[in-house]
Amino acid sequence: MTDFNQPISGNDLARFSGPNTYMRLPQATSLEGLDVAVVGVPMDIGTSWRSGTRFGPKQIRAESAMLRPYNMATGAAPFDSLNIADIGDLAINTFSLKESLRIIQESYDAILAGGVIPVAMGGDHSITLPILRAIAAKYGPVALVHVDAHADVNDEMFGERETHGTVFRRAYEEGLIVPDKTYQIGIRGTGYAATDFSEAQSWGFQHFPAQELWGRQLHQMGAEIRRDIGNRPVYVTYDIDSLDPAYAPGTGTPEIGGLTTPQALELIRSLKGINIVGCDLVEVSPPYDPSGNTALVGANLLYELLCVLPGVTTR
Ligand code: MN
Ligand code: MN
Repeated sequence: MTDFNQPISGNDLARFSGPNTYMRLPQATSLEGLDVAVVGVPMDIGTSWRSGTRFGPKQIRAESAMLRPYNMATGAAPFDSLNIADIGDLAINTFSLKESLRIIQESYDAILAGGVIPVAMGGDHSITLPILRAIAAKYGPVALVHVDAHADVNDEMFGERETHGTVFRRAYEEGLIVPDKTYQIGIRGTGYAATDFSEAQSWGFQHFPAQELWGRQLHQMGAEIRRDIGNRPVYVTYDIDSLDPAYAPGTGTPEIGGLTTPQALELIRSLKGINIVGCDLVEVSPPYDPSGNTALVGANLLYELLCVLPGVTTR
């Protein structure tokens, strides 16, 4: 119906065949003409507990084969108005975290220079620091919607300052994000110190702890965040461990008492209208995901993120 890239339909080619790209979209070798680039960052060398997220992009792509183009709940039709492709995986160096972060940042500089919205499939959460460095270089400090069981604001881990648990302290220190437009949603669990969360709040971070969200519908909270952000550029980073392990067990650092999948859908859908300049879905670890359900949830949440990008039409 349009010149825009379309996922291969399950009525044209059986869903269990065809390319292992996100939603079986075309794999682009150039950014030319793209509005959105889905990119894999197959990395797990920034993790502190279970590894395995290096297999995340491959498994998210595999589970995404069942997704269809139209969002029957919201009417969103991302493939009717945006040209979206899977641009494959970044060629990270699995023997060097530091080198990998440099590669991610440089790759993102190129993606952003092309005016393309990057949508990343992680990978552990350490990928988000170089992404935010590139995002801030283009847009200046951005608002940040950070959905996670963890605040990821440690100062260092074993003396390392760039890990999946230190990302948002670095982002704050480096001025990559607007502190009082940073929303950490779903945080919970045990801390290294009683002050783990309060220090980040003292920087201005707005916290929405999981226990305050239990049994609540999230569209109202989402609407408040949307109003608070206004039209400033915003990055959305979605750690799959924000969900309860009942819904998403295949992840590196699971914490009980998390969000439900309906809450995750509601939260993302409530963000429609904000100026998202990039997003990621991180921490899916297929070796701990024997049913494939975590990757399935991840694939769906990425689709929901596509549905709330600027410029998506509804039917
Ligand atoms: Mn995280
Ligand atoms: Mn986490």
